[in-house]
Amino acid sequence: MHHTTRVICPVCSADHFTLKYQATYEYSYRIDGNAPGLNNTNELLPYMYDQREQKDAKQSIECKTCGTSYPCYFDKWTEGITPKMIQEAIASAYKSQQ
Ligand SMILES: [Zn+2]
Repeated sequence: MHHTTRVICPVCSADHFTLKYQATYEYSYRIDGNAPGLNNTNELLPYMYDQREQKDAKQSIECKTCGTSYPCYFDKWTEGITPKMIQEAIASAYKSQQ
């Protein structure tokens, strides 16, 4: 029985990938007397927001050799994700691009 331990690019057969995770967040600051945001006093600090909302998230696995990008979605990136699952995500993205 064959066990897959490496993830192979269907385009060029290379096995080096980068996972890209692009997310869009909207930060809200309540305007108060001294500066925007209840947590800011002198300047607008990007991490001192009052509310953060995720607007969009995009993931893709990109082959470092040929540059092909395979859209994917993993809601948890943990040790539980096996090379086989990554290979299947790549295979289905590759098929839908054909
Ligand atoms: Zn490739």
